[in-house]
Amino acid sequence: MADPNCIFCRIAQGDIPAEKLFDDGTVFAIRDINPKAPTHVLVIPYEHVEALAEADGALVGAAAHCLEVAPRIARELGVAGAGYRLVANQGPDSGQEVPHFHLHILAGRRLGPMG
Ligand code: AMP
Ligand code: ZN
Repeated sequence: MADPNCIFCRIAQGDIPAEKLFDDGTVFAIRDINPKAPTHVLVIPYEHVEALAEADGALVGAAAHCLEVAPRIARELGVAGAGYRLVANQGPDSGQEVPHFHLHILAGRRLGPMG
């Protein structure tokens, strides 16, 4: 269910305008407002999935769908050939800022080591 205090729910519902680069009714993609790479796109389920560990099957399915569409979005962005990184932060130690599951697509430069 949508959380009125959640920025991604508000974007999903159209309360906050954002250009959707991709939208299939289950997930949508927007450019990150504070990009960490030349291409930095977020793939976000419409449903508010707070934490994968606490989500039921349908919500995990919506989150997993982000992974299904990410390669297609990367291809449309023109970064599939050079490569990209997919990141899903979960919880405080990951630095997660928005507690609504999302996948980062990072590309456009040689990305450093993880960690
Ligand atoms: P995370 O740290 O994994 O929760 O990532 C949240 C990301 O959302 C950060 O990279 C933010 O820059 C980004 N972000 C926050 N608000 C917005 C917004 N209104 N539009 C686009 N990206 C946003
Ligand atoms: Zn939300």
